[in-house]
Amino acid sequence: MPLSADLASTENLLADRVRTARPSEVRKVFRAAQKPGIISFANGAPYLGALPFEQLAAAAQRILSDNGPVSLQYGASQGIAELRRHICTLMKLEGIVAAPDDVIVTSGSQQALDLAARILVNPDDVIFAEAPSYAGGMAVFTGYQAQIVHVPMDADGLIPEELERAIAEVRASGRTAKGLYTIPNFQNPGGVNLSVERRRRVGEICRDNGLLIFEDNPYGLLGFDGATLPAIQPDFPDITMYFGSFSKMIAPGLRLGWVLPPAALHHHFVNTSETTLLNPPVYNQQLLSTYLDDPAWQDKLNEYRNIYREKFTALVETLERVMPDGTSWNRPTGGFYLWVTLPDGIDAEALVYECIERGVVYVPGTAFYTDGRGRNELRLSFCLPTVDEIREGAALMGELFTAAAGSAAATKVAAG
Ligand code: PMP
Repeated sequence: MPLSADLASTENLLADRVRTARPSEVRKVFRAAQKPGIISFANGAPYLGALPFEQLAAAAQRILSDNGPVSLQYGASQGIAELRRHICTLMKLEGIVAAPDDVIVTSGSQQALDLAARILVNPDDVIFAEAPSYAGGMAVFTGYQAQIVHVPMDADGLIPEELERAIAEVRASGRTAKGLYTIPNFQNPGGVNLSVERRRRVGEICRDNGLLIFEDNPYGLLGFDGATLPAIQPDFPDITMYFGSFSKMIAPGLRLGWVLPPAALHHHFVNTSETTLLNPPVYNQQLLSTYLDDPAWQDKLNEYRNIYREKFTALVETLERVMPDGTSWNRPTGGFYLWVTLPDGIDAEALVYECIERGVVYVPGTAFYTDGRGRNELRLSFCLPTVDEIREGAALMGELFTAAAGSAAATKVAAG
């Protein structure tokens, strides 16, 4: 019988890393939310409406007419030198000193994360991650059969003592503690910053315990007031993989990000990237480099910071009016995300489909943990919807959760 006719045996042919992968909750929610007019607090997609499209179109035309055969040819596996120079200038804003040769341009930071996991992670290795953490990042590590162990956060980010405790527990259980995956700025999904003091402390703990640091930083330049915090990498260059991205601050459609690995691992990243990608697209890199050549791009970034601040403000103002008593959320100072905790007994995962029926979607908190936590939590992305949509969507959500809180309270009374 042809293999394709026998689904069960096809399942058996899958690689272990695919067969054992957890189905993605986020993908299920996104599928259900594919209907016209839905207000999405689920997408971590940047708002692109203020980009200078005419200017970009002119640059795109110039690039092709000046030297099309180079732009559309294969290129350097590490990425074009002009873009790597820009990347070094950008990283300097966060205290990172690197030369263009140190940097590897990738197809988004997602590919860079995949490279790092492919190079460094063995099945059953433990990767520590903030609780909660970016589902797509954790999926990369679990895709290479790592185990995620969550480490609690507070308002100052990952708690160093909890990291130490988690490392000790993992060691005691005989498992290999391999590395820490952290998003230190405007964390996805928590919206929290790792404090400057803790960056050092967390780095020291990793170094002293032989752990690698996967420092994922797509949002660092998106503080509402433009302030940046120093990266972890400069103090711990020998153990840190630093990941950057142009997706959130410029445009994800270009699919351009980068990784700065420790010098000793650099050739592995170049070779492995070559195996998976050959090279990042030359044309996209040239377009982006040309955009970055004009310092006006920074004014644009400022404009975006203000747009996101306005959206964030509209969201929290509305939530304050509409959410049931006992709901709490944090106050991020940048980035795209707000983390909401509902009163006990309200199940954000169960309610998301009803919310979609009413025309609004969010991501349930459970998507951001690998251990089933987060049922009364959710992530709200305020980046993409307009201010009016944010007000309308939050009000609709508030009605749903208020009704759910009412029936949860009624059930409690009846049960008690
Ligand atoms: N890391 C984090 C924390 C993210 O939020 C995202 C996108 N949502 C990525 C990495 C991947 O981004 P990209 O591949 O577009 O650079």
